[in-house]
Amino acid sequence: MEPVVVVGAGLSGVTCARELAAAGVAVRLVDRGRRVGGRMSSRRLDGRYVDLGASYFTVEDDGFAAVVADWETRGLARQWTDTLSVLSPDAEPQTKSGPVRWGSAGGLRSLVEDLATDLDVELGTHLKALPEAPAVVLAMPDPQAVRLLPEGPSHDAVRRRLDREFEPVLALSARWPERSWDLDGAFVNDHDVLSWVADDGRRRGDGAPVLVAHSTPAYAAPHLLEPQAAAAPMTAALRDLLGLTEPVETYLHRWSVARPAGERDQPYLLEDTPTGLVGACGDGWGATSKVETAWRSGRDLGRALVARLA
Ligand SMILES: Cc1cc2nc3c(=O)[nH]c(=O)nc-3n(C[C@H](O)[C@H](O)[C@H](O)COP(=O)(O)OP(=O)(O)OC[C@H]3O[C@@H](n4cnc5c(N)ncnc54)[C@H](O)[C@@H]3O)c2cc1C
Repeated sequence: MEPVVVVGAGLSGVTCARELAAAGVAVRLVDRGRRVGGRMSSRRLDGRYVDLGASYFTVEDDGFAAVVADWETRGLARQWTDTLSVLSPDAEPQTKSGPVRWGSAGGLRSLVEDLATDLDVELGTHLKALPEAPAVVLAMPDPQAVRLLPEGPSHDAVRRRLDREFEPVLALSARWPERSWDLDGAFVNDHDVLSWVADDGRRRGDGAPVLVAHSTPAYAAPHLLEPQAAAAPMTAALRDLLGLTEPVETYLHRWSVARPAGERDQPYLLEDTPTGLVGACGDGWGATSKVETAWRSGRDLGRALVARLA
């Protein structure tokens, strides 16, 4: 029996598993998906990858900066922009400068795949219960993690702490024959349907005339059972916002569990239970929910487990 089973091969789970493996701790890493990456999701549409989950990442932590510098050196990650637009139906467009936003020529999933290169990942393994192991890491959003806990009081302390709600988002990819807009990405304020638009060709660096628009959580919520019904209204909203013609191709992806709501400062969870240690990590663990938070949470939980198991 491996001392640690990590469930979830998104960025946090892969980072946690790497930390354990680097310290010589045997680890089993499983994911229900066909590929690693979780919400850093890139789907092949019309012969190229489109980022349908995370749009970009930013870098503050020195440890993450070292990982990103290595990706950049090897041509996997690229600096996209530090200037984004701010659009609103009732106001003049503005631009806003901020931290450098990073993208990836191969799609953000390729970065998680790179980190997982030396790990054995059991893909297509959808666990329905906590696996038997001295330590189990749930590297996923709270609503998914809580489903794996056994009924009854044995894991009540863990269940109580896995209480963060996550909001849904619909992501629409739309392709035109050529680019007729001039923005890298845009926060959309005060809009009934859209919250964000990104130029996928510019962030990926291949120049393809493809936009990805994200819905507001409020628009996504009633569309989760039949998300495809939202494709036409989202396309119309995007065309209206940017003054565009009809796209030649669209694709809609549903994220039922996309972004954590509220706040939580703890970097990870680690509890003793009657079945062994249970940990949790991911972007729901840390002050701001983002790619870097998921990386840091996975790293910190990995280190804490190494210390406990030594
Ligand atoms: C629409 C959208 C836009 C975003 N935009 C940005 C952005 O612009 N910038 C930014 O920094 N972040 C953004 N994010 C957030 C970013 O994607 C996440 O912070 C990060 O990918 C989280 O990684 P994770 O490892 O915590 O979780 P996940 O990537 O969700 O990984 C969890 C994994 O667990 C697996 N899993 C779940 N349940 C089971 C089970 N029972 N058995 C086996 N496997 C299971 C899943 O398949 C998944 O692979 C966005 C997210 C979404 C959805």
